[in-house]
Amino acid sequence: MIRIDVPHALCNECRQCCHFVAPPFLTPYASRGLEEATALSEDFRSRSGLPTLSPDVKNEIPVWTCSILNGSDYVCRDWPDHPLDCRIYPLVFYSEGNSSKIGLDPSCPYSNRQPLTWFGEKARQIREEVWSGWTDEQKRTLLPFFRTDAFPDLIPLLSLSDGP
Ligand code: SF4
Ligand code: SF4
Repeated sequence: MIRIDVPHALCNECRQCCHFVAPPFLTPYASRGLEEATALSEDFRSRSGLPTLSPDVKNEIPVWTCSILNGSDYVCRDWPDHPLDCRIYPLVFYSEGNSSKIGLDPSCPYSNRQPLTWFGEKARQIREEVWSGWTDEQKRTLLPFFRTDAFPDLIPLLSLSDGP
């Protein structure tokens, strides 16, 4: 199963993920709408089903926290079987015109712990092991979720629809 193993100690220090300023923005794809989620590949469900969001407060700011996060030690309770978009972060899907792509989010501290070529190889694995197994309907369902405005500094790595 494809996964980027960001060290837990780094996530515990950073604590940037799994809290969201406003649902459904940036939440795991499968939690953004049950209607769309039913068409998504099983890759996007966690072992416990679809992640849900609960209102919370972080650094005195209202946020929505994923129901699967264990807040005390900052561990995803479904690791390593959490949803695909969580498993591959800091790699993210995005679209440019009609082309779907994978990029690297440099706001994650792990993004500079490996060379770009390492992330590029992971992106190729995602294309071969995951993307190529999805139906056209699943790809069409995902496309509206591929938002670039959430990742303003995204580093482009790989085109999914047009080859390397
Ligand atoms: S931004 Fe990166 S280091 Fe921080 S919690 Fe998320 S995956 Fe972990
Ligand atoms: S499923 Fe796990 S990794 Fe994904 S947002 Fe929820 S707690 Fe975080």
